[in-house]
Amino acid sequence: MIMKLNTKVTTSFALISTGLIIMLVAINLYAFRTFSIASSTDHIRTAAEIVRVGLTESMINGVIDQREGFLKRLVEVQGLSGARVVRSHHVVGQFGEGTATEMTTDEIEKQVLTDGQARYEVVEKAGDTFFRGTIPFTATAHGSPNCLECHEVKEGDVLGAVTISMSIGNLKDKAILTVSGIIGTVALFTLAALLLVSRLIRPLSLTADNVKKAVHKALDGDFTTKVKKITDDEMGQIAQDMNRLLAFLDEGLNAIGANVARLTNRAPQPGENLLDATTDMVDGLTRASIFKQAIEEDESKEEILQRLARVIATDYGVTEYSIYEIDPQKKNQMVPTIVDGELGGGCKWCDPQILVRGDGCRARRTGHVIDGISDPDICYSFRPPEGCDSYRYVCIPVIQAGSVGNVVQLIAKPGCGIDTLAQVPFIKVYLREAAPVLETKRLMATLKESSLRDPMTGLNNRRFLEEYIDTLVANADRRQIGLTIMMLDLDHFKMVNDTYGHDAGDDVIKALAKVLRQTVRASDMVIRFGGEEFLVVLVDTVGTPAQEVAEKIRSTIESMEIITAGTKLKKTISIGSAEYPKDADTFWQALKFADVALYEAKEQGRNRVIHFAPEMWTDDQSY
Ligand code: GH3
Ligand code: MG
Ligand code: MG
Repeated sequence: MIMKLNTKVTTSFALISTGLIIMLVAINLYAFRTFSIASSTDHIRTAAEIVRVGLTESMINGVIDQREGFLKRLVEVQGLSGARVVRSHHVVGQFGEGTATEMTTDEIEKQVLTDGQARYEVVEKAGDTFFRGTIPFTATAHGSPNCLECHEVKEGDVLGAVTISMSIGNLKDKAILTVSGIIGTVALFTLAALLLVSRLIRPLSLTADNVKKAVHKALDGDFTTKVKKITDDEMGQIAQDMNRLLAFLDEGLNAIGANVARLTNRAPQPGENLLDATTDMVDGLTRASIFKQAIEEDESKEEILQRLARVIATDYGVTEYSIYEIDPQKKNQMVPTIVDGELGGGCKWCDPQILVRGDGCRARRTGHVIDGISDPDICYSFRPPEGCDSYRYVCIPVIQAGSVGNVVQLIAKPGCGIDTLAQVPFIKVYLREAAPVLETKRLMATLKESSLRDPMTGLNNRRFLEEYIDTLVANADRRQIGLTIMMLDLDHFKMVNDTYGHDAGDDVIKALAKVLRQTVRASDMVIRFGGEEFLVVLVDTVGTPAQEVAEKIRSTIESMEIITAGTKLKKTISIGSAEYPKDADTFWQALKFADVALYEAKEQGRNRVIHFAPEMWTDDQSY
């Protein structure tokens, strides 16, 4: 338990003043007592001396029998409470017992009569305080008159004693009054000091209290509390500075929150700890930014989609989902790229119809998020597993270059603990990051594709050959199969251009390309190598009559009528071929030999197929 400042100060003051009071009272009482006793002793001594002188005088004057009256007067004159004389046994022995009072000795008087020592004491009686002294009269030969002249005693013998008592109640009352005065004064001063200090401390402890409250609220994420400025001193300054700090934090966090909220689709909820919410949002932003950095360096669309799938499963706990891709070539078709973490997982959660007719996918068609949790019937293409209707879904389209490029379908089972719908805004942040990168990747793929293809014939070009031939050759080597390379060149093609125009020439080239594509297998390669020169690579020629394929091409062209520029054209083609690795150690060497064979075909009169023979290759041809 923390003791409050005010309590501390009050307690300290109370302790100090109590100590002070106790000390002052003790000193006072001691002083009063000492003083009372000293003055009473003096008073009693004087009175005793008067009694002694008086009694002696009475004895000399023969009026000793009037001593009672003398004592009475003395008591009155001196303001005493009582005075009584007692006789010692010496006097009793010589002069008799005296009056009744003179004979009745108490214990103290007996002791004084015995040892001749004066005794004093304070006596409480009948509600009053008395100081009583019993003083001995001792015989002496030196005084005047000489005691020994009348008394038959020795020097120093006790003749008697006088007991005088006087009220000191009055003094005691004065002492009590003084002490009370002191206590009162000290208490009054203490109280005044306390009030003053408390007045000075009040703003301090109030400010401290307010600062404490504000800090506690800030720890709970509420920075809107204000610390009241009570005084115009350092405390007021603290309150002001604290308010500035709180306002600064509140503004800063709100600004961060507002900015980050836009990027993370997450805003602090009412009553949510602002600091925690901001930390959480910045954390989300960081993760999204790391994600963005990673996908920008990813090589393919598939890699990006796989990374996205991991985020959906790991960060957002959705393990059943599909990521579809809209085929950019065949615009309306959808391909399930990743399903439940599996690449190319098939149409697990959809009606297979959408694979060929993408418009069946509502998200794809509308470009809107489709909430199949709130309304399970919204899309007819969703297919839950057989016999289970507890599955729901949310489909999010990913817009790329103005149209839906991907659709992310999240599967939900309401009641399974994962609030899939609530995750949508966060997943959308990732999709927003991924969209432009996917778009770029798609564009790059299209660009690359087009750079490797001849637009006129749709055939692959020479660049394609350069890029893929290594893979093709490596494959052939591994499988120990041969490749047949055919170089084809139209005969007297220049003439077509010259006679019928360039467009007619183009039509001839297109017709030839079509024949080539139709004649060879899909696994074979047809390349437009140059203007009206083509290259065909036949894969796995072992047991395949490559010569036959070449011949078929040649004869098809020969017999073909090309209708162009309002006429029917007939063209022939020359073909040179070579085999890898049979004829040459490298593919490019085999290609060169095929070219040599083509030259030979032209030489021999065109419209023919010539296979390379080593004798066609002379040293001066080599390069
Ligand atoms: P040869 O029998 O010796 O091959 O005679 P040729 O006339 O065919 O001679 P060559 O093969 O050297 O001629 C190629 C001609 O093809 C030159 C060029 O004008 C033409 N050509 C090249 N590319 C195209 C094209 O894309 N379209 C058209 N129309 N003509 C082209
Ligand atoms: Mg040519
Ligand atoms: Mg030609």
